[in-house]
Amino acid sequence: MSMFEDIPVDVGVVYEGERIRGKDMQFEFGGPNIEKKFELVQAREMKEIQDGKVIIQGPDLKDLEEGKSYPLGILVEAAGKQIEKDLEAVLERRIHEFTNYVEGFMHLNQRYDIWLRLSKSSFKKGFNSLDFLGKVLARLFKSEFPIIEKIQITFITDPAKIESWHKKALQIYEARDARVRGMKDEDVEEFYGCVLCQSFAPSHLCIISPNRVSLCGAINWFDARAAARVDPKGPNFMIPKGELLDEIHGEYSGANEAAKQKSLGEVERVWMYSMFGHPHTSCGCFEAIAFYIPEVDGVGVVDRGFEGTAVNGLAFSTMANQTGGGKQVEGFNGIAIEYMRSPKFLQADEGLNRVVWLPSNVKEKILDSIPEELRDKIATEKDATNTTELKAFLKEKGHPVVQRWPAEVAVAEKTPAEEGVPTEYALPQVTMAAAPGLIPGVGEGFQLIFKNVKIKAEKLIIRREEKKSK
Ligand code: SF4
Repeated sequence: MSMFEDIPVDVGVVYEGERIRGKDMQFEFGGPNIEKKFELVQAREMKEIQDGKVIIQGPDLKDLEEGKSYPLGILVEAAGKQIEKDLEAVLERRIHEFTNYVEGFMHLNQRYDIWLRLSKSSFKKGFNSLDFLGKVLARLFKSEFPIIEKIQITFITDPAKIESWHKKALQIYEARDARVRGMKDEDVEEFYGCVLCQSFAPSHLCIISPNRVSLCGAINWFDARAAARVDPKGPNFMIPKGELLDEIHGEYSGANEAAKQKSLGEVERVWMYSMFGHPHTSCGCFEAIAFYIPEVDGVGVVDRGFEGTAVNGLAFSTMANQTGGGKQVEGFNGIAIEYMRSPKFLQADEGLNRVVWLPSNVKEKILDSIPEELRDKIATEKDATNTTELKAFLKEKGHPVVQRWPAEVAVAEKTPAEEGVPTEYALPQVTMAAAPGLIPGVGEGFQLIFKNVKIKAEKLIIRREEKKSK
């Protein structure tokens, strides 16, 4: 008899990755329309919980209206001789995977950002109580982690009850994150890997170090270490650091080797502290995306919850499509928000000094990690909604990135000698008539003048030509 004989829908790995669109959903929990939602695993003493018990606090699935969004808190309490606090985060991350095994149930994200949907067809098949989901979770947890001797699951849908639990959950997440903040990558002998997301990003490996938390933000170095110890054949494993090949970019021979092995040769080198060259791969669970903004030579960060378009004119979902899937995409890097607090955050690219734009809620969250002199120089959506506004803002505030911009040369022409260009490197000025329509607004009667073209075109002068009298 199957372990899920009494569940009205199928349960299996085959349903992982199933997407439920708005028109197919019976209702959803969490997501962008709901402010307070969470999932949490807590280690308990054996006597504190009742094995297999599922508690529902608030309305159950059958009581909910079709097409609506509801708050949800999921509390999983586990006990056993080997169950320790350090394991809470990695067990918690598995809620995502196990819920996705349920036919017609979709689970996205983690911690305070969960988003679940139940399909109309699964609801019609009889999946009309959270009790079914609780049973599935309890059985999958116990079969995957034999060290769990007792497990109790509580679903909270009552908004008043979520309120206090949500507050508690945020404090617990913060305490987990804070624990690793004082540590450095140099202090440890090994990093840890996570391949949980390979089911949808086959070449992705999270390399988790004290200074680089996982992309989902849910698993730090301590969590991954605890998981690798109790379940060495599971998705978390130890990565010997090996030789430090590049201190600034964060390249380690051991991390390269692990990336090569786990990506089946797809990824050969990883720079843990850079979004260029050989950036860390991105799966699809990242909390935020760091993106390069060529117009200002700076870096923006947009989080999953940001509505509308970021300062580069792209929505989070659009950027996520090109960033994720396990690829190394220069200039786009899936990250956890906590990584922005790390002293090694994009260290090779100048870290926070290169960050020019953030959603205001993200800025608020990491404000105490932003050097004081930089705080009012980083724009948010309230200061700039496009790159023209951003450029003006950065210039006005004197953001350090402005120093990187090529000096604006006065339009009045100077000879190379006057400009201080050594004559042996100076090239004759290249002037040509603009092809009509080549540049918007530029038609006949203008000249394009390219300067310093041997290296790169640093300046484009568009000059109106006076008509010569016949
Ligand atoms: S984002 Fe990384 S750490 Fe988080 S579940 Fe996926 S692979 Fe694991």
